[in-house]
Amino acid sequence: MAAPLLEVRNLRAGYGPTEVLHGLDFAIPEGSITALLGANGAGKTTTLRAICGMVRTSGEVSFAGQRISGKSTEDIVRLGVAHVPDGRGTFTDLTTEENLRLGAYARREHGALAEDYGRMYRLFPILAERRHQQAGTLSGGQQQMLAVARALMLRPRLLLLDEPSFGLAPMVVKEIFEVMREINRSQKMTILLVEQNAAMALKLADQAHLLETGRIVRSGAGAELMNDDAVRRAYLGY
Ligand code: ATP
Repeated sequence: MAAPLLEVRNLRAGYGPTEVLHGLDFAIPEGSITALLGANGAGKTTTLRAICGMVRTSGEVSFAGQRISGKSTEDIVRLGVAHVPDGRGTFTDLTTEENLRLGAYARREHGALAEDYGRMYRLFPILAERRHQQAGTLSGGQQQMLAVARALMLRPRLLLLDEPSFGLAPMVVKEIFEVMREINRSQKMTILLVEQNAAMALKLADQAHLLETGRIVRSGAGAELMNDDAVRRAYLGY
């Protein structure tokens, strides 16, 4: 197995006096897709925020062999961790292409932007058609694609995705999952995916962790968890 790109040790995090994550331990091998599953409120979003330095934490998070816990979000992004938050966070008054340009802002090497736009438009052809359109006028699915593309403009080594399928039609969800598989395969992009759609996430993921009230209660290969009775009953409905 490849060396871990991200290592999380005894990660605790919370809001104000309330602890939400009670000591998570997991590692993400470079080039893999990892899914984080769990019910509403289990702490999935908080885990992504903790990795990005957006909430108070204790414990240790290392990225590419370097400790990142305690660093600012800006520094963590510059090291190559891109985060697509839930709710997408596109700039609705800016055009598609202006949103993409902002995505490239924090990256280290300033290679040709045009080449990156081209790459994004090949991944998401609909964004090419909408390149001069205000992001706020795009459909929910197109805005989600734009949010993913904007994160990829950073040329990250690790992509954190928070519920990319939320509220989208099945066809669009399928397209977004296909893009995740494609960038993982062709660019060896390491992905940490938070998903409510457990069936699709487990099918895509190399490994998955199940969170319950701030603790990891099950871990395994995607296919393995798909056959786990508790996971099936609680998350797959059969
Ligand atoms: P969901 O699918 O509902 O987003 P989740 O697994 O991502 O669930 P989190 O959003 O990480 O869960 O929330 C975990 C806990 O932290 C919940 O009890 C939630 O109420 C609490 N929480 C989340 N954000 C905040 C905040 N900004 N301030 C205070 N408490 C929060």
